[in-house]
Amino acid sequence: MLPVVALVGRPNVGKSTLFNRLTRTRDALVADFPGLTRDRKYGQANYEGLQFIVVDTGGISGDEQGIDMAMANQSLMAIDEADVVLFLVDARVGLTGADQGIAEHLRKQNKSVYVVANKVDGIDGDSESADFFALGLGDVNQIAAAHGRGVTQLLTHTLMPL
Ligand code: GDP
Ligand code: MG
Repeated sequence: MLPVVALVGRPNVGKSTLFNRLTRTRDALVADFPGLTRDRKYGQANYEGLQFIVVDTGGISGDEQGIDMAMANQSLMAIDEADVVLFLVDARVGLTGADQGIAEHLRKQNKSVYVVANKVDGIDGDSESADFFALGLGDVNQIAAAHGRGVTQLLTHTLMPL
């Protein structure tokens, strides 16, 4: 059985971009507007020799209603079935209330959760990521999903303990 890695976080943080990189497909929809991925989506990843199932989700905004509620439910199910949760946040936007709401949920789960600050390309990753320690979920892993920076290191770090 391959380990299952779920990508969660609010819309537009780069979950589908990371999914595409890990699966090397264009299957997961990537868009400039939030909320395009309505359902959870599975892919098989073989990244630098690491094999796992990766699950892309539509995102959680924290104040869902209607279709957004269904998207949030998909994310909660993905968290439930995952061995590892990668909680993506946007290093360019910084810490948001929605991030804090998601963290509150994740802290209650008995899961391996890793905070992943995405989009550190062209910015000072260390200073922009510092705020995310306040999420209370440990170290902040910096990546640039669009360019692949930090991704191998992140996966090695998160999959090794399994
Ligand atoms: P999702 O809603 O979380 O799935 O986010 P997407 O993967 O659709 O990405 C949202 C936006 O962020 C798109 O415009 C991406 O091109 C952009 N993006 C994703 N990863 C990076 C990154 O590493 N650096 C930068 N600068 N932009 C990124
Ligand atoms: Mg998406």
